[in-house]
Amino acid sequence: MSEQESRATLPCPTVPQAVGAFDEDEPPSQPRRHPFWADVPDQQWDDWRWQSQNAVRSVRQLRNLLTFTNEELEAIGRLESEYKLAIPPYYFSLINPVDPNDPIRRQSVPSPLEAENPSGYELEDPLEEDKDSPVPGLTHRYPDRALLVTTHVCTMYCRFCTRKRATMVRGGWDAISRNDRRMIDYVAAHPEIRDVIVSGGDPLTLPLPKLRFFLENLAKIPHVDVIRIGTRIPVTLPQKLYDQELIDLLASVNKVWIQTHFNHPREVTPEAARVCLSLLKAGMPVNNHTVLLKGVNDDLATMRLLMRALLRIKVRPYYLFHCDPVIGAGHFRTSVWKGIEIMEGLRGHMSGLGIPTYVVDSPHGGGKIPVMPNYLVSASDDAVVLRNYEGMLIRYQASDTPNTIEPTLNRGVSSLLQGTRSAIIPEGNERMARRKSLQVITVKPPEEEEASGGCCGSGGDQEHDHDHEEELVAVSVPTPAPAKPRRRPKK
Ligand code: SF4
Repeated sequence: MSEQESRATLPCPTVPQAVGAFDEDEPPSQPRRHPFWADVPDQQWDDWRWQSQNAVRSVRQLRNLLTFTNEELEAIGRLESEYKLAIPPYYFSLINPVDPNDPIRRQSVPSPLEAENPSGYELEDPLEEDKDSPVPGLTHRYPDRALLVTTHVCTMYCRFCTRKRATMVRGGWDAISRNDRRMIDYVAAHPEIRDVIVSGGDPLTLPLPKLRFFLENLAKIPHVDVIRIGTRIPVTLPQKLYDQELIDLLASVNKVWIQTHFNHPREVTPEAARVCLSLLKAGMPVNNHTVLLKGVNDDLATMRLLMRALLRIKVRPYYLFHCDPVIGAGHFRTSVWKGIEIMEGLRGHMSGLGIPTYVVDSPHGGGKIPVMPNYLVSASDDAVVLRNYEGMLIRYQASDTPNTIEPTLNRGVSSLLQGTRSAIIPEGNERMARRKSLQVITVKPPEEEEASGGCCGSGGDQEHDHDHEEELVAVSVPTPAPAKPRRRPKK
């Protein structure tokens, strides 16, 4: 019996009934440990080899660490022969053990729902990567990019993985990297390829000589400008990047960008922050993609926290992917409307640096298609009407040419197109109220002054027509110096 199995057969005093607060601080908060590993010396805990050797890999281990119903245990026991399971103690410790719906647990621990395919829409290879594969392990889909699947190994097997057929399925796909040299030769023979994504599995699990082989040979190809390393190691096993030799190898090739994958703010830990900073200091930009996952991050508050946390550790949010229809991941999928609702709450409400592009990776190998709330409301030959995050409708004239439309209407979107108004501003707009409090002075044309009962007069539509907003002139009014306290005249 292995050490892990003998641990797993211990009685289960380790399943905690109460734990400290989760998600109270803004990430990165404090390092965490599940009570099962509380006594492991720091030196071991910080060693990625120890983390890998002690990863939770069986349902027998799981039952001693988390609570399950008997039905759940039976169902995930049946899945064990089909899908691999691996959760390093570090990542496992991010799970709140008393919450059966914990977002870290949902990503890493098998669920009975993986056996279901409710829509019948889920596929083994939903993006048809294999059909765009001229060489085993290489996908050439977009004109200037190629994807190399270099390994089927990951440090943690994400239950929603799009490439599950290669990574999680036991005895699965064997096309990966069957001939590494052929993949390199294909890239070399196609001068249109400028950007190579070295992926997997997780390429940072490769032995260093093999990783060096890919990096150095790709870097030698003159037309390759960018080598992107797709890795979840900063999230699931940051200890691997405590190894300076690995950082040095990545940095030695002056074309490497890191593409990582944080899905939840709790994953942004001090350990993750440390290794992202090491990568940045070594000269590699770090971008993130997030997958929109039901029960993990499918709400605006969580997504805002995540994007802010990423900015805090200088990782640039790059993509928000809609979850692909891969077999066994249907329970993670939510509507495209949910993604749009989230994007609506991000754009304009927080720094543009923190706004990812929301994309649907389309069937039939159609690739990533950006989806977003509609900001273009209407258009004419002269102008477009745009909507901003506040709901303000604005006429925008892209070129300085005379108006071709005879104005006939002075209300609604048509009035914006015709140029009789330049903006319609919802009533109660905070920014306009702030302008007023800053003593912004409104200057109106005289004829309008007469006709109008004032800018924000009572009554009217819910959406207030500010047809004279273009005449708003911000006048800097010096704030009067605080009056000196007067002394009472002596009597
Ligand atoms: S780390 Fe990436 S490749 Fe590996 S299981 Fe997770 S999503 Fe799939």
